Amino acid sequence: YLDLNGLQKSFGANQVVKSFDLGIEKGEFVSLLGPSGCGKTTVLRMVAGFEAPSSGVIRIDGQDVTALRPNQRNIGMVFQAYALFPNLNVAQNVGFGLKIAGVPAAEITARVAEMLAMIGLPEMGARYPFQLSGGQQQRVALARALAPRPRVLLLDEPLSALDAKIRVSLRAEIRDIQRKLGITTIFVTHDQEEALSMSDRVVVMNGGRAEQVGAPFEIYNHPATRFVAQFVGTLN
Ligand code: ATP
Repeated sequence: YLDLNGLQKSFGANQVVKSFDLGIEKGEFVSLLGPSGCGKTTVLRMVAGFEAPSSGVIRIDGQDVTALRPNQRNIGMVFQAYALFPNLNVAQNVGFGLKIAGVPAAEITARVAEMLAMIGLPEMGARYPFQLSGGQQQRVALARALAPRPRVLLLDEPLSALDAKIRVSLRAEIRDIQRKLGITTIFVTHDQEEALSMSDRVVVMNGGRAEQVGAPFEIYNHPATRFVAQFVGTLN
């Protein structure tokens, strides 16, 4: 459904993504896991359209989107933190993409209510981001990303700014919503426990390459390389 073929990216002489191939099924939840600087955010930014690949092709549902602008790709994205519009209330934040797309007001109101119910914050539409906890803000960011019913959801370390307890409960919530909507998702993280506990498949990245791709139990029980074993913590 989402196909990355021979993706490469260089910044000057620095090749940060090296011939990256990945095929993701419709509805699948795939994590890109790796240490800081391994290129996972750059892969995500190329899928989103914020960064043009030096070479390679990105397809969504058979459509070549490599040359399309971000707003033409029909993708939703959630960032690490602080990405809500501070001067818009929760309902306006969630409805933002729909408004831009010219969806009629009554339909926006209904969709916003549906999304707020889905994230468990049905009464919070009139609040402003500064009146929400970090976890609530990230739920709203998720609702905002999903409200236009994108084809693909991209999550860039959405939990890493939150404290441990909320992080763990949000893992399950995100996965529940993702399953309910059946939305194809890429999740970027440097946290092995997060990747292994949430994903259908994990891509372990090292130095701009996919070092191993597999289901969490395969990665954990049969690490393909010493790097993978070390990174997932089965080898000290
Ligand atoms: P992190 O978790 O720290 O974000 P990452 O695995 O997501 O790490 P990237 O953000 O993809 O890594 O960065 C990979 C490499 O590319 C890094 O060495 C970074 O410095 C470099 N890089 C990223 N964006 C740019 C840019 N716009 N210009 C130059 N170098 C960049």
